[in-house]
Amino acid sequence: MSQGTLYIVSAPSGAGKSSLISALLNDNPRYDMKVSVSHTTRAMRPGEENGVHYHFVSEEEFQSLIAQEAFLEHAQVFGNYYGTSRVWIEKMLNNGVDIFLDIDWQGAEQIRQQMPNSKSIFILPPSREELERRLTTRGQDSEEVIAQRMQEARTEISHYADYDYLIINDDFDVALMDIKAIIRAERMAQAKQASKYHTMIDELLAD
Ligand code: GDP
Ligand code: ADP
Ligand code: 5GP
Repeated sequence: MSQGTLYIVSAPSGAGKSSLISALLNDNPRYDMKVSVSHTTRAMRPGEENGVHYHFVSEEEFQSLIAQEAFLEHAQVFGNYYGTSRVWIEKMLNNGVDIFLDIDWQGAEQIRQQMPNSKSIFILPPSREELERRLTTRGQDSEEVIAQRMQEARTEISHYADYDYLIINDDFDVALMDIKAIIRAERMAQAKQASKYHTMIDELLAD
């Protein structure tokens, strides 16, 4: 079986990455795509569930996971720690499952170094005004947190050129089609197809 592809998805907070990833997975309730559930020290938001949106841990637990080398990458974002579990990802990729990481640019840099075959996607909002409107209408963060995230948006966006793909999330359905197109094209990569269809190809080449 060929290995799954590791997709890094980054965007400024509020650009729509969680919505896009969740629409992608809900649209095809299939076993061959999964999103990685990060560990975080951030406080749980209303409606969030431990183990579903994040594994919510204390700062001591997070430090102990770092010491055990449990993370493929970890970073401090908006004053909280976030990290991606190593073992689960390696197991899923070996089982041929495509994995999505909703992580910031610092995490993306670490993953690119460790997993050079990973593919990265950056999502842009159509304007700063629309980004702020989305953060406000999401109704999850205080005014102060929204102001901080708008401030940090420029830093996150400044790394867009390091990514393989760029998606503009203006019309949600178009952005969703665009992300699906990337996944579909990646699955046709010659090396992946050759590994999946090697018996057929051998027969085609036989005398
Ligand atoms: P959102 O931006 O509104 O989705 O807010 P979140 O609290 O879900 O994410 C906060 C920040 O942490 C974002 O910049 C994410 O990209 C980043 N992040 C989330 N999960 C991970 C992870 O596993 N690793 C790393 N390095 N960053 C992550
Ligand atoms: P992120 O995970 O990048 O922080 P979310 O997925 O939480 O962003 O999206 C932020 C808010 O914007 C949510 O309320 C979501 O419903 C909304 N949203 C996402 N994409 C669009 C879009 N294309 N048009 C309008 N609203 C959107
Ligand atoms: P939120 O606190 O709004 O859920 O997430 C804020 C930011 O943290 C998002 O940009 C998200 O992509 C990022 N983030 C979430 N989990 C991780 C993680 O495990 N690692 C890194 N580097 N960033 C993460």
